Amino acid sequence: MTPYENKNRIYLSSPHMSEEGYEKQYVQEAFDTNWIAPLGENVNQFEKELATKVGSRYAAALNSGTGAIHMALKAAEVGKDDIVFCQSLTFSATANPIIYQNATPVFIDSNYETWNMDPQKLEEAFEKYPHAKAVLVVHLYGLSADMDKIMDICKKHHATVIEDAAESLGTRYKSKYTGTFGKYGVFSFNGNKIITTSGGGMLVSNDEERIQKVRFWATQARDTARHYQHSELGYNYRMSNIVAGIGRGQLKVLDQRIAKKKYIFEFYKEHLGQLDGLRFMPINTWNEPNYWLSCLTLCGKVKPLDIIESLERNNIESRPLWKPMHMQPFFADYDYIGTDVSETLFENGVCLPSDTKMTDDDLSRVVNIIKSLW
Ligand SMILES: *Cc1c(COP(=O)(O)O)cnc(C)c1O
Repeated sequence: MTPYENKNRIYLSSPHMSEEGYEKQYVQEAFDTNWIAPLGENVNQFEKELATKVGSRYAAALNSGTGAIHMALKAAEVGKDDIVFCQSLTFSATANPIIYQNATPVFIDSNYETWNMDPQKLEEAFEKYPHAKAVLVVHLYGLSADMDKIMDICKKHHATVIEDAAESLGTRYKSKYTGTFGKYGVFSFNGNKIITTSGGGMLVSNDEERIQKVRFWATQARDTARHYQHSELGYNYRMSNIVAGIGRGQLKVLDQRIAKKKYIFEFYKEHLGQLDGLRFMPINTWNEPNYWLSCLTLCGKVKPLDIIESLERNNIESRPLWKPMHMQPFFADYDYIGTDVSETLFENGVCLPSDTKMTDDDLSRVVNIIKSLW
């Protein structure tokens, strides 16, 4: 069943346009000036507005977060046979672009403290592969990785840090926005993210030359000449001016969305927090998450599948945590530095419905269904 056929379903995280209709206004402007394509004012402004919001100097708007990760790796000059350390517990879109660049991923375990890359395991990885070129760290579910430790280790080993902040737009680590610690930061506006353009991504960096280069590659690498002249491999990765209009409108309500996501998490925590063997995702004192999804782990007699199936019977969406990359058949032959932390999180974790359109009644329904399993 598609979302359109199923109005009463409660979703994990679905698109939520502003009540004020900001998105439509920006899209209308694009129509009025016939700036449907290519590029245009919405793209330029969306780049500026997003960069300003997170405190980065420059941004390149692209047609997906995956494309932004790909361009970050290319900008970092990751190429054939280079080693890239990549967080194992993540969505496959973090790791796939390493393969697009013919480089070699080495997967790194998470720790329980952050659910993200374990700095100690990263240190071990550098002992084994001292010349690793780049590190792809993820801020899962809107939680931040322990960036001070990760940055220190990467500086010591001269590796470029790329932050996959696809799920963490608006998350702060020690007051600074995720995506602005490493040389490159990546955001996604896919339909399930905290704000969405229907599909799209953004690459941010303080390096103006690299961002201009990414814009060049992403528009087919056309040299400045009247005819079509190409000295480099190009990609068709740019965001359209229509899509960027939706993004500008959504950015205006980002803080509202974060506040609601936090409310949802705290509602669950208040009503489910005392259940035996149930633990919510870790909120560290130095972390102000965007609470993209409310997640928990179980270690008692109730299993993740019990929750997922009983919610599903009530037409409510939930799902397991990401299955680690080193457990995926496609990536099985690559090295993995770690123990069983990411596997244990995967086997015991559940993402609860965290849709910002949920009412208190919806939240109570979810809570009551889960409580009835105890
Ligand atoms: C959504 C997501 C991406 C990919 O973004 P797209 O815009 O869908 O290409 C990458 N990494 C993580 C962790 C994601 O959740």
